[in-house]
Formats: sequence, C-alpha cells, structure tokens
Amino acid sequence: MNYREQKIIVKIRKEHNYYFAYFIELRRLIPVNYIGTKIIDAFFNKNYNLDEIVKSINSKRKTVNKKDVSDFLHNIKKEITLPYEGGYPIIGKEQLDAPIAVELQTNTTCNLRCKHCCQAGYNKIMPINRVKDILEILYKNNIFEINYDEKNFRNLIKIF
Ligand code: SF4
Repeated sequence: MNYREQKIIVKIRKEHNYYFAYFIELRRLIPVNYIGTKIIDAFFNKNYNLDEIVKSINSKRKTVNKKDVSDFLHNIKKEITLPYEGGYPIIGKEQLDAPIAVELQTNTTCNLRCKHCCQAGYNKIMPINRVKDILEILYKNNIFEINYDEKNFRNLIKIF
C-alpha cells in the first residue's frame, strides 16, 4: 500500500487514558497513546516525512527520535494491512464514552413490505430539527462514522 498516493484519513478520539486512531476507509481502530496520535496524525493526515514528524513532536521537548517513529509507523502499517481477526481486547474490557459508529435512519420509506418487517408504517420522515440535534450530539461525542440513507439524508441536509 502506497500511503503517499492513497490518502488515508485518520480520525482520533480520546477515550479514558488512551486514544483511538480510526482509519476511516480501512475501518480499522487502533488504540494508541498521546505521542502515537501525534505520529499518526502527522504521517497520515498531514503527509509529513520522518524528519518533519520528529521535529513537530520534539518542538517543545525531546521525546522521540527517527528510529522510534519509523518503528512505530512500521507496526501501525502492519496492523492496518493485516486481515482483521475480530475484536479489540481493550474495547471488551472498558466502557466506551461514545459509540464508534452510528446508523441514522431518517425515514421509514421502503416499498418491499417484507412479512417480518417491524416497522409500523412506511411514510415517516424524521423532522429536520431532530436530525440536526442528533448530528450535533454525534459531532460533540466524536462519533467516528455515521451510516445513513444517502438520498433522503442529502435532501434533509440541503435544508440546513
Ligand atoms: S424489513 Fe421492512 S424496512 Fe427492511 S426491507 Fe423489509 S419492508 Fe423494508
């Protein structure tokens, strides 16, 4: 994987005493410490090279050297390219402050009418103010990913 050509965006969120680095396109979540977030952000989001990363992290006091950064990035790259084997022990042991991903259903429109369907009706659309309130809550809580019904969601968003 060429990280310079294939732009990989990483979102970072503080969670108790550690941080989550969420590789959006890859849907990989990696718990790291504070320095780890700085290295990941500099490399993946800002496209810094090793020298620039070391310089940016050591600007206040010397914390890392080039080999530390290189080893760390090597392990992170290995981690995000390995096949997913399911589960992160750290998540299993601790209560998260907020969900990682949320599915936002803004309407009940569907023309399939499956026999097992649990919906009471098929014509409800979530009021725009409620969508706005929910999005604000999700934003404030640093939810990494929101899945939604694209067509209806775009129509609602146009109103904002
Ligand atoms: S279960 Fe309900 S909402 Fe889902 S596809 Fe069937 S009718 Fe549509």
